[in-house]
Amino acid sequence: MDSGKGTTYIHVFGCRASLSEGEFIAGMMKSYGHDVTEDLTREFSSAVIVTCSVTHEADRKCRNLIRRVRKILGAEGVLAVCGCWAQGVDANSARDLGVDILGGSKGKNLIPSAVINMSENGRKFLDLRTHDMSQWEELPLNSTVLHSRAFVKIQDGCNHFCTYCIIPFLRGKPVSRPIENIIAEINRLIDNGTKEIIFTGIHLGIYGKDIDTSLADLIRKVSRVDGLKRLRLGSIEPFSLDDELINALAECKAFCHHLHLPLQSGDDDILGRMRRGYTSAEFVKVCDNLREKISGDIHISSDILTGFPGESDTAFNNTLDVMKASGFGRVHVFPYSARKGTLAANMAGQVSHSAKIERVARAISLGREMFRDYAQKFVGTEAEILIERDNKGHTRNYIEAVCSGNDNEIVKAEVIRFDGNRLECLRRD
Ligand code: SF4
Repeated sequence: MDSGKGTTYIHVFGCRASLSEGEFIAGMMKSYGHDVTEDLTREFSSAVIVTCSVTHEADRKCRNLIRRVRKILGAEGVLAVCGCWAQGVDANSARDLGVDILGGSKGKNLIPSAVINMSENGRKFLDLRTHDMSQWEELPLNSTVLHSRAFVKIQDGCNHFCTYCIIPFLRGKPVSRPIENIIAEINRLIDNGTKEIIFTGIHLGIYGKDIDTSLADLIRKVSRVDGLKRLRLGSIEPFSLDDELINALAECKAFCHHLHLPLQSGDDDILGRMRRGYTSAEFVKVCDNLREKISGDIHISSDILTGFPGESDTAFNNTLDVMKASGFGRVHVFPYSARKGTLAANMAGQVSHSAKIERVARAISLGREMFRDYAQKFVGTEAEILIERDNKGHTRNYIEAVCSGNDNEIVKAEVIRFDGNRLECLRRD
């Protein structure tokens, strides 16, 4: 397969931390002179898949894409996989799927050169994984390749051990990135035309605890960076939003008024069994605090997990009530999926698949209503939109919007209508 020589296919599954890691790998492949594509129909001679393992479904999708890419690459093409699924998989199983380079949660900085070397010297199975997750791994970005917005990874790992979550076992204990590295990266990105920065991590809210600083401190320092127009936070746990952090966000002009706070359940007994670390009343209080201190219009989006072991109809109705009390915009809903190795997988009271799916449908339906009511409020107002691609982008409070403009351009527009999913806007500047 000689056509596409020097082209690398990249696919990133999972969370925003993975997106940031995928950007690093794409940038490095470019620096080696490779073209990078996310299009499976294009010709390519090597591939890198950044995997996810948050649910069984995520594992299945990773395996399916690996098989498909292996087939496309044929006998010569080099296939590298890394990330959470790859960290936990048995080496022989990965090898049987046709993986050449097996990276894990760490060691992603080794992937690009390993692909280049193996492309030149022939395929030979290589396991780059380590179980030592104690050090921060610097994956610096200079510009973005896969997205117009920049996902800046500032934290990795988690030791909270929510009883349903496999991530702490795959990503290791929390580690934070030095503030000076983050600020240097933001300056490079802004110099290279980036208009929006999104801080990502596995457990963002505990940023800095291991290096004697905090997310609030970082926000204050970043607020002083010249040219920073739009700053967002990736998903953050509600118990991390203390007054210190909320005040820092309120004072940061670049901060875009949207936060993704996973609620998971609105029932206190279930929250206790999940070991989430907050009660439903405390969660609602955080939402009220954000509206009072940052903006009454702040967009609070969330995740809901239905069918956690022991969840009765009453417990689920409590979740619907707390969704309403929290005044959510966008809501993502998932059926609970038992992960081998987690405490919840062996808990009594496993809920039937049909009940999980029925509850998913009811939560999605309420979520749609709530998002419609939230987005509708902005019709007739002015919005600032970052156009990402093909006249589509997001407002500052993270509602998808359609408006004429160039890719990576910030425009001012009037919101004409909400089509059930996006805001249709008319450019004003
Ligand atoms: S905070 Fe909970 S859900 Fe989030 S990564 Fe840690 S264990 Fe998983």
